[in-house]
Amino acid sequence: MLDNIQSAVCVVAHPDDAEIGLFSTLEYLSMQSVPLHLIVMTGGSLGFAVQSNKQDNLRQIRKFELESAFSDINISLHYMDHQENSLSNNNHHISSLEKLILKLNCDTVFTHAGDNKYCDHQNHLAVSKIVTNICARKDFIRNLIYFSPVNGMASFSPNLFLYYSNALERKHSAISKHQSQHGRYYMNKNFLKESNIINRSRSNFSGLDVDKDILESFQLVFSKVANV
Ligand SMILES: [Zn+2]
Repeated sequence: MLDNIQSAVCVVAHPDDAEIGLFSTLEYLSMQSVPLHLIVMTGGSLGFAVQSNKQDNLRQIRKFELESAFSDINISLHYMDHQENSLSNNNHHISSLEKLILKLNCDTVFTHAGDNKYCDHQNHLAVSKIVTNICARKDFIRNLIYFSPVNGMASFSPNLFLYYSNALERKHSAISKHQSQHGRYYMNKNFLKESNIINRSRSNFSGLDVDKDILESFQLVFSKVANV
C-alpha cells in the first residue's frame, strides 16, 4: 500500500493529532523520500495542559511544539488558523482547504475518521467531513485514508494495519514535544502500548512480531486505480 504513494498530505484539526495518529507512518514515508505535507486546521488555542492556566501565546507555542515534533522528518507544515470549535462542513472551510489541496497536488490524503458514532473531538469529525467532501470530487486524489481516533471506544473499522520496528521511542518523543498538553493521557508512554493492544485486537493478529513495537491502524476509504 505505502509503496504506491507518490506524495501525501495529512489534514488534522489540532497541532498534535498527526503525531498521535500516524507519526510512524509519516516517518516511514519520509524515509522513502515521499513528498509530505501536514495541514493543521486550527491553532489549538483551546487545548492546554490539564492542570495549567491557559497561556496567552498558546497558538505560537503549539506551532513551535509541532515544528519540534517533526524536526527530524522532511515534511512541509501548513497552518489554516481557523477558529477553534468553528469548524464545519461549510463553503468557507471547504473552499479554503480545497485551494491548498489543489496546490499541493498529492495523490494520497490522510485525515481523521469521520463516522465515529460515540466519542471523538467535534473538530476531528468536522475536519474529516470537510476533507472527505473534497477528496470525493478530485480525480487526482487516488487514496483517502482515515487514521485511528485516539479513543479506543470510538466506532472505527480499520482495514489497513501498518507495523514498525523500534519506532516507539521516536513516536513517544514526538508526542512529548507538546508540553503545553502536559497531563493529558496520551503524553504517557503507556498510551502507545495500550493503543497497540487495541489495534492488535482490531487486526485479529494472534502472533504479532515482538520486534514491531508500533502498530498504526487505518481505514482505507477509497483507492483508485491510476489511469493507464
Ligand atoms: Zn485533536
